[in-house]
Amino acid sequence: MKSLVILLFSGLITGCRGNSSHSLPPKLLLVSFDGFRADYLQNYEFPHLQNFIKEGVLVEHVKNVFITKTFPNHYSIVTGLYEESHGIVANSMYDVVTKKHFSDLDDKDPFWWNEAVPIWVTNQLQENRSSAAAMWPGTDVPIHNTTPSYFMNYSSSVSFEERLNNITTWLINSNPPVTFATLYWEEPDASGHKYGPEDKENMYRVLKEIDDLIGELVHKLKVLGLWENLNVIITSDHGMTQCSKDRLINLDRCIDNSSYALIDLTPVAAVLPKINTTEVYNKLKVCSPHMNVYLKEDIPARFHYQHNNRIQPIILVADEGWTIVLNKSLPKLGDHGYDNSLSSMHPFLAAHGPAFHKGYKHNTINSVDIYPMMCHILGLKPRPNNGTFGHTKCLLVDQWCINLPEAVGIVIGALLVLTTLTGLIIIMQNRLSVPRPFSRLQLQEDDDDPLIE
Ligand SMILES: [Zn+2]
Repeated sequence: MKSLVILLFSGLITGCRGNSSHSLPPKLLLVSFDGFRADYLQNYEFPHLQNFIKEGVLVEHVKNVFITKTFPNHYSIVTGLYEESHGIVANSMYDVVTKKHFSDLDDKDPFWWNEAVPIWVTNQLQENRSSAAAMWPGTDVPIHNTTPSYFMNYSSSVSFEERLNNITTWLINSNPPVTFATLYWEEPDASGHKYGPEDKENMYRVLKEIDDLIGELVHKLKVLGLWENLNVIITSDHGMTQCSKDRLINLDRCIDNSSYALIDLTPVAAVLPKINTTEVYNKLKVCSPHMNVYLKEDIPARFHYQHNNRIQPIILVADEGWTIVLNKSLPKLGDHGYDNSLSSMHPFLAAHGPAFHKGYKHNTINSVDIYPMMCHILGLKPRPNNGTFGHTKCLLVDQWCINLPEAVGIVIGALLVLTTLTGLIIIMQNRLSVPRPFSRLQLQEDDDDPLIE
């Protein structure tokens, strides 16, 4: 009951605040640290990030989308769509109709991105608003003929400081004002691949650097007077798991590589058979007990990874920690892309700002839920998407939310009140019905009086 009252009051207060700041459009900065596995937060120290969370919210696990690769997941965050619906189904793709190729080094053709509309485009369609991007997959591509008003061409050699400087300058000085901005950083993904997440010493060093960058980000926002009014989401695209040279699936041992084209390799391989699909499938099917082999029409529904021409006729999904290779290929020590139900593939989400509660922790949301939440914060009408806004309500100050423990508490409280009331009613009824036999007893005593005398 107490939490209900608090929620009621916070709703009223937020309602008032919403009216008073009507002239200032809400602003949101979306930050991604690539490959930030959710449980790094429990296994390493992040003093700056923990301070950020203390004053904001934390979602401990974000269930991302299959395949758990960089480009597909970054595009799901900003569109709210599964990969089969937004069309970026891998970091390496081939379109059989147009014969076009896509890779993370050759990603500028809008053809690949135009199956969806990312939030920065929708934001810019609003009157008097612009978007900015200090990198994020797709932000340097004219999607539906529109780039963010301010953006940087992707280059991994540009420092975090330069990206941060650009994004804060745009957030402060632009007209129309930048109300949606993205900031992207390649770590800890690059080091996760290089060392593997079980290399505690190297990961400790890299993750400390990440935490220092978060410290820099918060410091700069405070110095520039952006901290109090800007909503900041820090999240990631996927996690990372340990690989090993002892866990290799060598396709060349099972099938002649001239019978198929390999569009994407590991840990989810996309296979385009050159002649006979059934024959290629039958050979791959028995290749390894550590890999699932699916014909496109048999890909499990839970992956939401089927209804797109860019998904190839045969998909191989390696078990966690296993690497699909061709002869002589060398493994990376860490990788991602595996089944999105694996917790090692999940990132986290932290958020701070006027839209978010302070000091609130939440167990899990889906990465496609982030899009409708961001649209709500910015006051944008979301496009059709696979997310559920209700999943994020507990994070937001202007929403009613009763989570499961609270709901159970309220039910138990109500039952206690009912039991107490029932008990009181029974006692009262008993007291009211007592006087009649008692008065008859008195009469009997009176009757006895003459005998005593
Ligand atoms: Zn990534």
